[in-house]
Amino acid sequence: MMMDIAQFRENAKKIIDLIADYYSNIETYPVKSQIQPGDIKNALPVAAPTQGENFDNILLDFNKLIMPGLTHWQSPNFFAYFNSNTSFESILGEFLTASLGQQCFSWATSPAAAELEETVMNWLRQLIGLPEDFQGVIQDTASTATLTSLITAREKFSDYSINSTGFAAQPVWRIYCSSEAHSSIEKAVKIAGFGKQNLVKIELNADFSINTADLRKKINADIESGFKPLAIVSALGTTGSLAIDSIKECGKISREYGLWHHVDAAHAGTALVLPEMRYMIEGIENVDTFVFNPHKWMFTNFDFSAYFVRDKGSLIQTFEILPEYLKTNVDNDVNNYRDWGIQLGRRFRSLKMWFILRSMGTEQIRNKIREHISFAEYLENRIGDNPDFEMLTPRSLNLVCFRFNPYERNLNESDLNKLNETLVENINASGKIFLSHTKLNGKYTLRMVTGQTYSELQHVSSAWDLIENIAKDILN
Ligand SMILES: *Cc1c(COP(=O)(O)O)cnc(C)c1O
Repeated sequence: MMMDIAQFRENAKKIIDLIADYYSNIETYPVKSQIQPGDIKNALPVAAPTQGENFDNILLDFNKLIMPGLTHWQSPNFFAYFNSNTSFESILGEFLTASLGQQCFSWATSPAAAELEETVMNWLRQLIGLPEDFQGVIQDTASTATLTSLITAREKFSDYSINSTGFAAQPVWRIYCSSEAHSSIEKAVKIAGFGKQNLVKIELNADFSINTADLRKKINADIESGFKPLAIVSALGTTGSLAIDSIKECGKISREYGLWHHVDAAHAGTALVLPEMRYMIEGIENVDTFVFNPHKWMFTNFDFSAYFVRDKGSLIQTFEILPEYLKTNVDNDVNNYRDWGIQLGRRFRSLKMWFILRSMGTEQIRNKIREHISFAEYLENRIGDNPDFEMLTPRSLNLVCFRFNPYERNLNESDLNKLNETLVENINASGKIFLSHTKLNGKYTLRMVTGQTYSELQHVSSAWDLIENIAKDILN
C-alpha cells in the first residue's frame, strides 16, 4: 500500500521534526563520520523488501544505520574542502521542488519555472556585479558548466562543424589553465574530445595564481608547432589555496589571440556579492562564460550552479535540439532551457533560490559573506600569534592554508609533512571539527574554510584552541 494524503501529512511532520532535531543537535555528532568501509553496506539487506514496510521503522533505521555514516557538512564545526552550505530557506524551497515534480526543459512544460529561472539568474547576475550583457542558466554543477563552455567554444571556433562531422578534418585544439586549476577542467577537456594531452598547464606565480608570461609563451610555442589554441580557463579561486588568477591579464591575452575565455569561480565567485571584492573581475569585458556555485558558499542546498554566458546564440546553436514533439508556437518568445546545456530533463532549481534571495535579502547575504571572511582573518591572526604555526600562502577570502612548524625543533620538510599529516588525522579523529589538506610546493598544508551557514566566531575560536591543543599533545 502506498502512502495516502492523510499518511503523507502525518509522516511529513515527523520528517520536519527530524530535521529540526538534527539541526538542534548537530554539534553533538562527530563532524567527520567515524565508521569503517563496509559498515553501512553490511548493516543493510542485500535485496529490497518484497512487502512494503512501516514508515516509522524506516525512520528508526535511518537514525540507527544511516546517521552514523554521515559526515556533517552542515555542522558549524565543518571547515574542510569547500563549504557546501544550505539554509532552512533553501531546504523548504527544495521540499516544494520535490513535491511539484516539474520538468523544466521547455517553457511550455513549466512556464513558471522558465520565467522564475530567468528572473533569479538576473537577480544573481546583479548581486555579483556581472555586466548586463551576460545571461544566466542554472546548471547542476560547475563541472557541467565548464564542459558546456568548452563544447560551445569547440563549436563556435570550428564553425559548428565538429557537432556534424566530428574531429576528422580538425586541427589539434589546445586549452590552457594553471596547474592549480580544478580537475573538472581536465575532465571537460577529455569528455569534449580534445584529448587531455591538449590541456596545457601553465606555471604559477608565487601566490599560486596563473603566470600570464608563461601563458603567453606556451600559446606562442603551440602556434609555432602548428597547434590551434582554443580557450583559456582562468580560476577565480583555485581549489588548493583559492589563488585568484588575473581575469584582466587572461582576458587581454584571450582577445589578443582570438581565444575563448571561461572563468571558473565555483567557490570564490560568491565573494563578488561584496562590492569591495569586484576588483577580482576587473577585465570581465573579455570573458565569454562564467560559473559560480551558490551550492557552495551561498546558502543553497546542492545542486545549483550559476552559469553565465555573453553569447547565448552560440550556446544554443551548440546544444539545440528540435524534434517535432518538442516544437511549440511560442519557441521564439521564450527560453527553452533544454537548449542551454547538456540535459533534457531539468529540476525546478530556481524555486529554492527565490526563497533564499527573498527571505534573506541581499543585505543579509552580504553581511554573512563579510562575516565568513572576517572569521578567516581571525584565524590568520591567531596563526600569526603562534610561533609554532605558519601560513603557507596569504589568506584568500575565507580560506587559510597553514602548517604546524614548532620553531624550536628545526624539522626538515619530510618530517614536517609527517607531523602535519598526523595532526590532521588526530584533529579529525577527535570528531569535534573537520578540516582537510592539500600540498603546496610539496608542503603538506592544512586548509580551513570558514563559511558554514550557522558558524559563529565562537566555533572558529574553539576550533583554533583545539588545533593548538592537539598539536601540543603530539609534541609531548
Ligand atoms: C568545487 C569546485 C569545482 C567543482 O564544482 P562542482 O559543482 O562540484 O562540479 C570546480 N572548480 C572549482 C574552482 C571548485 O572549487
